[in-house]
Amino acid sequence: MTTFDETKISEAITSAYFKKLLDRLVSDVVIAGAGPSGLTAGYYLARKGFKVTIIEKHLSIGGGIWGGGMAMNEVAVQDPAVPILQEMGIRHDRQHEGLRTVDAVELASGLCLKAIQAGVVVLNLINVEDVCVRDGRVTGVVANRTMISNVLAVDPITFTAKATLDATGHEAAVVATLQKRGPTFKLPETAAIGEGPMDAAKGETFVVEHASEVFPGLWVSGMSVCAVYGGPRMGPIFGGMLLSGKRVAELIAAKL
Ligand SMILES: Cc1cc2nc3c(=O)[nH]c(=O)nc-3n(C[C@H](O)[C@H](O)[C@H](O)COP(=O)(O)OP(=O)(O)OC[C@H]3O[C@@H](n4cnc5c(N)ncnc54)[C@H](O)[C@@H]3O)c2cc1C
Repeated sequence: MTTFDETKISEAITSAYFKKLLDRLVSDVVIAGAGPSGLTAGYYLARKGFKVTIIEKHLSIGGGIWGGGMAMNEVAVQDPAVPILQEMGIRHDRQHEGLRTVDAVELASGLCLKAIQAGVVVLNLINVEDVCVRDGRVTGVVANRTMISNVLAVDPITFTAKATLDATGHEAAVVATLQKRGPTFKLPETAAIGEGPMDAAKGETFVVEHASEVFPGLWVSGMSVCAVYGGPRMGPIFGGMLLSGKRVAELIAAKL
């Protein structure tokens, strides 16, 4: 068996990672958050040939998928989102009229694999903590290692892009960086920041219909849509997240 010098292993990882990092400092689309909406948006944009980088603050991707409902790792998906599952080869069971269940682990890993195979690069353990704004337009994100961000006095670096997508879920973390700066960075009149009480059917439609550009160069999808526009929460049903990601990908592609 071949023997490896430990330094060669470290060299291989270091050179491969920094090559990837250098290549991703500029993208067509940078997506904050590797949950269901971010991964779906990334998949469809990469399929159209855009250079897409997803920045995820946690070690694992998939956001809120893994735990299903109350730690029962099955999630519900409604019929209109089934073509997305079929396209990605993710299996599903028909339960009730219009409603399927999907193994949460298969959904999270399937979305990730398909997005990466379509060309998306995911950089994990990096926290998006601010945005770059130039001439009244968001031109990317400011990010730092999750382990450092807001803990140590170490400066972040930037990842610039023609389009930035906030797919950070309940936090709408990217939009919140603009909102906290007040009226200079004007958001839509209806923007509220904070989701409403549960109404699953209404919430699922809401996240698709309101996926949009909220500030020049900055789009929202998934639960960030609810957080920004005060839409209803919907619990462990994920069709809306997939459809919202697909919809925002179409909007971004049309704009670019
Ligand atoms: C604790 C918990 C509570 C939930 N509560 C609700 C609920 O009230 N209503 C409801 O409808 N559904 C809820 N869900 C279900 C489910 O999480 C969401 O509906 C669905 O996952 C949202 O998908 P998304 O793609 O919009 O965002 P998420 O699945 O939340 O994914 C967002 C991703 O962005 C990453 N991220 C966040 N901030 C940053 C940042 N600054 N930089 C980089 N990455 C970042 C996160 O780590 C995560 O991976 C909950 C899930 C969990 C785990």
